[in-house]
Amino acid sequence: MSKPSNLSLLGLDRNELSDLVSGAGQPGYRVSQIIDALYRQRAQDLDEVTTLPADLRLRLQQDGFSIGAPLVDKKFVSEDGTVRYLMTFADGESAETVWMPEGDGGEAGDGSEAGEAAESASPRAAGRSTICISSQVGCAVDCKFCLTALLGVKRNLTAGEIVGQVCAVLKDQRISPPADRINLVFMGMGEPFLNYDNFMKAVRLLVENVGLAERRMTVSTAGIVPRIQDFGREEIRPKLAISLNASNDLVRGQLMPINRKWNLERLISAARAFPLRNREYVTFEYVLLGDVNDDVSNAKEVAELLRGLRCKVNLIALNPGPGIDFVTPSPGRVLAFQDTLRAAGIPAYIRRPRGRDIYAACGQLKRTLESPSAQPSLHSISPAAPR
Ligand code: SAH
Repeated sequence: MSKPSNLSLLGLDRNELSDLVSGAGQPGYRVSQIIDALYRQRAQDLDEVTTLPADLRLRLQQDGFSIGAPLVDKKFVSEDGTVRYLMTFADGESAETVWMPEGDGGEAGDGSEAGEAAESASPRAAGRSTICISSQVGCAVDCKFCLTALLGVKRNLTAGEIVGQVCAVLKDQRISPPADRINLVFMGMGEPFLNYDNFMKAVRLLVENVGLAERRMTVSTAGIVPRIQDFGREEIRPKLAISLNASNDLVRGQLMPINRKWNLERLISAARAFPLRNREYVTFEYVLLGDVNDDVSNAKEVAELLRGLRCKVNLIALNPGPGIDFVTPSPGRVLAFQDTLRAAGIPAYIRRPRGRDIYAACGQLKRTLESPSAQPSLHSISPAAPR
């Protein structure tokens, strides 16, 4: 009787593949062939991998292996070019992945990479596109302004499912790193630092096998302090972003229950102790919620908190959604907040919302099964402050 096909080749590293290949009595060069098929050809089915002999493919299938690539179940294209993918995994669970052509996935395009501006002169503005990937199905952190929170957490994604999202988008967009340079942000559904081992394994696979550069990746955390410390000790790691979102414990505790476990003092101490590399910053994200955390007095508190830290702040005016009881601040208030930070010597950027019309912007990922037309129209919502 054949075993069910529920083991995934995507997500195995070189050592694990070596064990598999030698266990099947095959020569070592098969490992590179499998890696090439998984990460460069991005095969969907073992039968497509004709570089491998038929008996090895059969053996792998009999042992329960498949490639394990997520299926692109739905694809929503925004008027600004952003694409939101609904990806389905082997067990039927799904998560969302976002493609942002030409910058501003949070890190690119915010002025921090001015030295790389020349790249945008190349035909496809290589080096400026960004993929935003999910680390969990849903999220347990329960931030009060985020749509993903309404789902709760279903499960962690495996390393293969995290890498598989990237491969699926690269395949669909016909992009081939490292020739095409892209940015990657772990800022989709879920809290990467609550799925730390799978997240880090995915990072290593993306660097070693997919050809992405660690300095073009950023992970964002809601503030899981012990994992920030572990992360600082990693040899290969993305840049660090922290979702600050409030200027004092009172407000942060109400917006982000996680603050009751690791308060601002512990969070900011961890950020201060974080071992930064040459020319590296910690990024703080700050979602501006009208009349909740967007006052100039809050900006002054933020400046105080971050004083002396090598950092920058990305301001995000609230992206609204059904069931989210906050309002988007006026452009004037967003600008005043930015000005206050800048006057205090803190680099602050206003993040341009991407794909709001298809629910692809920050905090809007929700495993939406309906088509965007079934969702309330967002066209009437005023955009965030001009950049
Ligand atoms: N869980 C991680 C990774 C997700 S990043 C984290 O919290 O950092 C998603 C970013 O979008 C976070 O900075 C979050 O604060 C922000 N965000 C969440 N809901 C939002 C909303 N409704 N509007 C704008 N930004 C939002």
